[in-house]
Amino acid sequence: MAQNREEMPLDVLFVGGGPANLAGAVHLMNLAKEKGLELEVGVIEKGDIIGAHSLSGAILDPIALKELVPDYMEKGCPIEETECRDEFYFFTKNSQYSVPFTPKYMHNKGCHIVSLSKFTRWLGELAENAGVNIFPGFAGTEVLYDSDTTGVLGVATGDKGVDKEGKQKSNFEPGIELTAKVTVFGEGPKGSLIRDIGEKMGIFSGKMPQVFETAIKEVIELPESSPFLSGDTTVIHSFGYPFGLHTKGGGFLYRMKDSMVALGLVVGLDYEDSGLEPYHAFLDYKKHPVIEEVIMGGKVLQQGAKTLSAGGYYTMPKLAVNGALFVGDSASMLNIQRLKGIHTAMKSGMLAAESIISAFEKDDYTVTTLSEYETKVEQSFIMKELKAARNFTQALSKHGVSQFVHVGAQFITGGRGIFDKMPIEEDSSTLEKMTPAQVKMLETPSAREFDGELYIDKLTGVYRSGTQHEEDQPCHLIVHDLNICAGECYDHYRNPCTRFCPGQVYEIEDSGGTRRLKLNPSNCLHCKTCEIKDPFKNITWTCPEGGGGPNFSIT
Ligand code: SF4
Repeated sequence: MAQNREEMPLDVLFVGGGPANLAGAVHLMNLAKEKGLELEVGVIEKGDIIGAHSLSGAILDPIALKELVPDYMEKGCPIEETECRDEFYFFTKNSQYSVPFTPKYMHNKGCHIVSLSKFTRWLGELAENAGVNIFPGFAGTEVLYDSDTTGVLGVATGDKGVDKEGKQKSNFEPGIELTAKVTVFGEGPKGSLIRDIGEKMGIFSGKMPQVFETAIKEVIELPESSPFLSGDTTVIHSFGYPFGLHTKGGGFLYRMKDSMVALGLVVGLDYEDSGLEPYHAFLDYKKHPVIEEVIMGGKVLQQGAKTLSAGGYYTMPKLAVNGALFVGDSASMLNIQRLKGIHTAMKSGMLAAESIISAFEKDDYTVTTLSEYETKVEQSFIMKELKAARNFTQALSKHGVSQFVHVGAQFITGGRGIFDKMPIEEDSSTLEKMTPAQVKMLETPSAREFDGELYIDKLTGVYRSGTQHEEDQPCHLIVHDLNICAGECYDHYRNPCTRFCPGQVYEIEDSGGTRRLKLNPSNCLHCKTCEIKDPFKNITWTCPEGGGGPNFSIT
């Protein structure tokens, strides 16, 4: 352990203040009370407040919520719409076809529309009221292992008050070593600590590669007279345009309270087209006649971006090691077939809590007892859902109509499909090199119009996400070899980071024929797309100083 860091011992530490960990923390306190156990429990969250980094669709299947808080409505759970009444379309550029048969997993009967940032904040309040110590603004930057790296002892938070050169400033505060008998990692997709555990303890060995999708989302305020606000439909899902059938993705539009709608577009990060700019695709999606008709006259209140774990069952890591458990999106538990993961995340946190109680009762925090969690997950609805969707993301990666053949076969066979364990390619390996025609297209400036209200550019989007970072701090985006950026990456792909990053963090400067990658890390929305999609795996995302990043409140 580092010399200058204080140690704070806890019984249980939850790393990440998302729905998995907060539901886990609340359940743990409830169970501990029942059993007469006194536990010191903490949650650390890198966002400035709980919910500040939470962004999702979000349609909530309340199955786990009902178990955790049966009277959630009476307890003030922030629900935007209690009922989901769906429309499902295939979009072409100027038209739409209503999908005549909606698979049962796409039905949202009994689900609620929520704002994940509001919902997470509410869960945080429940946890705090139950006696959990919540530490917002603290980023876990280092995993603490035992001497032979066979177990996890806790997590160290990052130092604060360090300048760009790594020197201590006058407001320097060293990080804290939070040690715990059990540490629960719920960092969300592509967590940087779970990556380290994967490298050191092999929790991903033998699994298929982790794969992801990126969502860009806006909350738009509609004019009060908008017919959508009083109509029957509350949910619109679509696929097709702006991607066609060669790139996996789709759009969503959900009705919220206070004349607002949530609008988003999701793209599978296994896309091949180096010229694709997800943000531009999102702007095109907003111009589709069905969407434009709904959002006309509206104003973007908030914007954000986030990746989601799309791999599911075959990509799930080992769920328990000595002293640690892995929950929610960190452990690939999102059901991509249903486009939902809040319910599986919450349930996983709750099952982790039950296993932690057993560990305290037996005074054994090794994998021998903690692996009870894996059994519980296996026997829960989480695994039932994930098994049924085990080949789904792979099927959608197929081109053209063959994806429908695979999806149809999986529907009939309960997930097995035409053949089981369809392979998955790592997202960083799928980009195709640019053709001269594509380069020419890219160099032809597009005539996009922004009005600063409903159609906003990337930088205005960053502003509307509330993103702020301490400017004078070490860059949290590690570009390992800048020569690759100026050479091979430019030559073959024209630096796709300048397009796939929704925060305009990456720019190529050309001064007299000398190219150089310029970074604007303060714009970072913490979506992690750059670490996932870079074709040379040349970028590593690390946690900036705690408290930095977006400040979502209604996403
Ligand atoms: Fe997302 Fe990376 Fe851009 Fe940050 S720098 S917004 S993590 S793509």
